[in-house]
This record gives sequence, C-alpha cells and structure tokens, in this order.
Amino acid sequence: MKLSSLHVLLTYQCNYECDHCFVWGSPWQAGVFTLAQLKNVFRQALAAPSIREFYFEGGETFIYYSILVKAVWHAHDLGFLTGIVTNGYWATNVEDALAWLRPLRDAGLDRIEISYDVLHGDGDAEPEPHPGLEAARQLGLPASLITLEPPMTARDPLAAEPGAPLTGGDVMYRGRAAEKLTAGLPRRPWRPFTRCPYEDLADPGRVHLDPYGNLHLCQGLVMGNVWERPLGRILQTYDSQNHPIVQPLLNGGPARLVRQYNLPHEADYVDACHLCYTARQALRSEFPTLLAPDQMYGVLEN
Ligand code: SF4
Repeated sequence: MKLSSLHVLLTYQCNYECDHCFVWGSPWQAGVFTLAQLKNVFRQALAAPSIREFYFEGGETFIYYSILVKAVWHAHDLGFLTGIVTNGYWATNVEDALAWLRPLRDAGLDRIEISYDVLHGDGDAEPEPHPGLEAARQLGLPASLITLEPPMTARDPLAAEPGAPLTGGDVMYRGRAAEKLTAGLPRRPWRPFTRCPYEDLADPGRVHLDPYGNLHLCQGLVMGNVWERPLGRILQTYDSQNHPIVQPLLNGGPARLVRQYNLPHEADYVDACHLCYTARQALRSEFPTLLAPDQMYGVLEN
C-alpha cells in the first residue's frame, strides 16, 4: 500500500458551521482526540513504514490549540512531516497571527494551509494578503490558502487527480454540501456516474483518521478502526474488492452502488459525490461500522 499521509481529524468541532463542510463541523459536534490517543496513533504509524506525514485537520484545529501544538511536537519528534489545515479564524492581524504560529513553527510544523473564501464563516473574505499567510511568511513557515469557488456547478471530474488533497476549486457535494448546496444547481442523470473521480479507493495515498478510531477512505467511508485493530494490520489486510461499499464503487462508481443494493434514488444528481453520499446514507443501517460515524452523516448527539 502506498499510503504515506495520515490526516488526523483532531476534532469534529468547529467555531463555524459552513454549508460546504464534508465533515459536518459545528460548535455542537462531539469528538476530539486526547493526547494519549494521538500518541497511540503516532506509535501505530511508526509500525507502518510507508507513513511519512501527519496532517492535522478538523473541524477547526485551533480550538484545541494546546493539544495541536503538542501533537505537532510529538509527530515531528518521531520524524514525521507535519501539516495543519485551519479556517484561520485566529489570524485577526499579523501580530496576533505571529503569536499563534510561532509555537507551532518552533514545535516543528512543516506547513500550514488556511481555508479562506466566501464559503467559510461569515462569508466576507477580504482580498489577500491574509494575516495568517503574512505571519507564516515572516516565520519562514510554508503556507498556502485553500480557496473554494461559490457553488454554481459541479467540479470537472476529468480534471481530478484521484486521491489528491483538496487545494481549492469547485465544491464537491458530499457531507453537509450534499444536503445544503445542491438545491437549484444543474443536475445530470444518475446512471453515467460510473466512477469515483476523487479518491483512490483501491490504494489510497492518504486517509483520514477521526477521534473514534475510524480510518476514512473518503469522509464517512471507513476501511477499519485503529482502536480495534492496529493500523499496520488494517493496511496490510485491506482488500478493496472485499469491502462491500468500495467494491461496487471501484467496479462502477456510485451508480453501481445504487444498482447493487437496489437503492431508491432520484433521476439526477449534481455530481458523483452527491449520488454516492446519498446512496451511502441509505446503506448506513446495513453497514454501521463501515459508514460511520454519525458525525459524517449530519447526525448530532442528543
Ligand atoms: S463521495 Fe463517493 S464518489 Fe465522491 S470522492 Fe467519496 S467515494 Fe468518491
């Protein structure tokens, strides 16, 4: 397996509740890593030699700032490359952003990516330079913006490189985006959605890991649980053709998933992810450990 990058969802909580969020981040979400759990994951990753990098994502990583700094320090100390994705809410001006970023730079952080566009937060994204980017530049910390386009249409699937991290462009309609942003957009008939354009489900280069131990091939599509089986063992034994959701996705995309399980469906969808996410929601009761957790499907704890 070529897996080289583990993207840790440090928490499902976020100070914002953006319509396009894949993971349904919100102030009311449950789920955050403890330091002990993070150290456990780092130890497990040492036994999986292909893993070279940890990215810390959310939710919003900076709302658990002290844990974030320690996590970066531990991962760096063990020889992993480290990166962070954040919505940058903390970068109110350059001086303050320097105060936030310096401890992370000193802990060994290699890169920071700031999601910054009209879709995030209150939607009043100012033009560059972003104070967080400027502070990172002054600290010599590699940094970039992730800027999504307002939802007008679907992303061009032919331009996608399966498995590549999201760096900007058009929204993909999974998670909350599938429920909140699809109304009124152009749609296409469901049958031609015959491949997953965005994730390398057979041999992923990066996967996401949440505080419940779920290892996600795509948000809400689980390949195993590291609290139940060691990460190295999950990677060694992963067989995409024996995974009841991945197998149809690989052999005929979301349309095959619908046909194979005879799922109810509409006539058309905005993109492949919209169909896939909707189909997976219909299958959750049949595959509760593989289509999990509730957070990824917008179910808030009572
Ligand atoms: S939602 Fe489905 S089609 Fe979209 S990237 Fe994920 S697995 Fe692929």
